[in-house]
Amino acid sequence: MKTKRLGKLLVLVISLMMIVTLLAGLSITASAEETGTETNTPVAEFVGKQVNLGGDISMKFYVRNNEDRPIESITVEVEFLGKLTYITECEKHPTDAKVYIYTFEGVGAQCLGDLMNVTILWGGIPVGHEKAMLTGYSVKENLINAYNITNDANMKQLIIDTLEYGAAAQVYRNYKTDALVTKDVDFISKGKADAEVPVSTPVVNETVADSIKGATVNFSATNFIKVSYNDGEIKTLTSDAVAAYDFAKKMQFSADGLFTLGYSVNDYCYDVINSDKTSEAMKSLAKALYNYGLSAHIVKGNHEGGYATCAAQKVCTICGNGYGNLLDHNYTYTANDDNNTITESCDKGCGHNKTITLKAPENLVYDGYAKEAVVDGSIDADYTVTYDKNDVINVGTYKATLTVRHL
Ligand SMILES: [Zn+2]
Ligand SMILES: [Zn+2]
Repeated sequence: MKTKRLGKLLVLVISLMMIVTLLAGLSITASAEETGTETNTPVAEFVGKQVNLGGDISMKFYVRNNEDRPIESITVEVEFLGKLTYITECEKHPTDAKVYIYTFEGVGAQCLGDLMNVTILWGGIPVGHEKAMLTGYSVKENLINAYNITNDANMKQLIIDTLEYGAAAQVYRNYKTDALVTKDVDFISKGKADAEVPVSTPVVNETVADSIKGATVNFSATNFIKVSYNDGEIKTLTSDAVAAYDFAKKMQFSADGLFTLGYSVNDYCYDVINSDKTSEAMKSLAKALYNYGLSAHIVKGNHEGGYATCAAQKVCTICGNGYGNLLDHNYTYTANDDNNTITESCDKGCGHNKTITLKAPENLVYDGYAKEAVVDGSIDADYTVTYDKNDVINVGTYKATLTVRHL
């Protein structure tokens, strides 16, 4: 409590109250699903196809077991690039008890436009129904359908960047370059990615000079980093698979007594693009890979870093987007006895600053009426003025107290 004389009227009282802050993140699964129609005609049928983006590029096939026969009887046969693959492992659909999901892994980035024939086998024999066959299907077709279905701008960008990545991989590998996966896709031009690849920042702790000889990234269905080093002979360390949405993540490498290294796919992309030994096709591929990873990160929503205020969200250090909740305001109150003011301000970044002033009434000559103190200005909190005696009528000295109540 603070007190001050001011003619016949006096005193300021201040109460302070803190506000608890709240933070929350958000998360979205990176996938593009295209669901088909449902009927009950064949023993088993395809009811959906999904391409997984952001992790490895793979296709998921949704199979409905219409007659509840043993699921072990079902095999999904995939004919792709002249090779037959038989998938028996499956997972249950999270909500539909009759539907099982079969995943076909290993679609290389350069193969997004390649056609696959997919057949449901029952006891090793094709079900023989048009709903149990997908003929001439491709990741590209699925992506185009998904693009047209989704309203999510970030997902649309991810689909564009995936196709661009596929086309860059074709050019780099000189694979079917007369039929680039981006060819004749009308929406490709809508999402030209222009984000700069951030400067490479490897975290190196090297005890033996120059032991690290190089790092490469495997550009394929699954991405991982390989680091080679010299330990008398050239040896190689390989990271775990790096999902596209984790391209900014430093993968950790360590060779006993030689070095530890934290190095990300994005570091690699930068290093490749900025090396004069790199071919143009490789630079394009590295840039496309970076764009793909950035979009995957945004769709996945695994943002990190930054500081929130009550006026601005955290800014992600990977993609530069705002994320998470604003901080709640935190109002603090300051009394100034010289000016008879109470100032309300926020210390969480919005710049809120308001002041009220307690003043004696202008006419303090006895006239038989109560004299009330004046409060100039406004603040968000409630406040009251009280007096030390009930009626400020008679000649004498009074104290007026300004009290801020803040909940
Ligand atoms: Zn981010
Ligand atoms: Zn504030």
